[in-house]
Amino acid sequence: MLSYQHIYHAGNLADVQKHALLCVMLDYMTRKDKPLSYIETHAGRGLYDLTAPEAVKTGEAAQGVIRVADWFPPEHPYARALTQVRSDHGDSAYPGSPLLAAGMLRPMDSIHLAELHPREFAALKQVMRPFGAHVHQQDGLELAQSLCPPTPRRGLMLIDPSYEVKTDYATLPGQIAALHRKWNVGVIALWYPILTTNAHKPMLRALEALDLPGVLRHEVRFPPARAGHGMVGSGLFIVNTPWGVADEAKRLDGLFGRLG
Ligand code: SAM
Repeated sequence: MLSYQHIYHAGNLADVQKHALLCVMLDYMTRKDKPLSYIETHAGRGLYDLTAPEAVKTGEAAQGVIRVADWFPPEHPYARALTQVRSDHGDSAYPGSPLLAAGMLRPMDSIHLAELHPREFAALKQVMRPFGAHVHQQDGLELAQSLCPPTPRRGLMLIDPSYEVKTDYATLPGQIAALHRKWNVGVIALWYPILTTNAHKPMLRALEALDLPGVLRHEVRFPPARAGHGMVGSGLFIVNTPWGVADEAKRLDGLFGRLG
């Protein structure tokens, strides 16, 4: 049974890194007047209230998106998306990646989202209804393998597991290699935690050994959310990285570096 719930972590510094880079990628990819596919394997519920008891209890959003709001000028794609969601849903609303993506995509684009948890799935379905997204209560990687190569063929896949299943670290490189074989033009972005146990490191070595094209590996460090907490940073491993992402990654390095 899954126990992870993203509401405890929504808007934390890992979300800031992942969501800022996701918005920059989609901003670039939607400039071309050609349709694209957006696929997400671990979608979450899509919309969070940062005043909910779960979010307040951990204080991760307070140390995250609330603390670093001034990192993103109003014209930054992540700042624009946050402004839109707050205007639609209230000042304490925070978008998950599916809602960020849906707000940036066009009617000609297609959206497929997987979420296994029944409550998260029900909430996601409701949030995504206005966007005509395909929302699946199914294992995300199973869905991804069945959709690839997607139609339209241009596109981006976000893989954002909660790593509750410890074998994820061992199986993800093989899954990504298979996805890339079927969809060699696809942008594939995998999020991972940076852990004091170094449990993520063998996975990264295996991913690097695949020698995939256009790889960008971006990692940021930040203070642990609580004393003794094992996550001290976050990373994105991107295949076929779109233009402009490397510059934003460098800018984020400087900003995260100042956190201490
Ligand atoms: N991507 C979201 C965002 O940035 O807003 C956060 C997703 S959260 C880290 C991971 C989600 O994956 C949880 O909601 C969890 O219920 C769901 N999940 C866990 N295992 C899954 C699986 N095998 N297939 C699909 N969803 C799964």
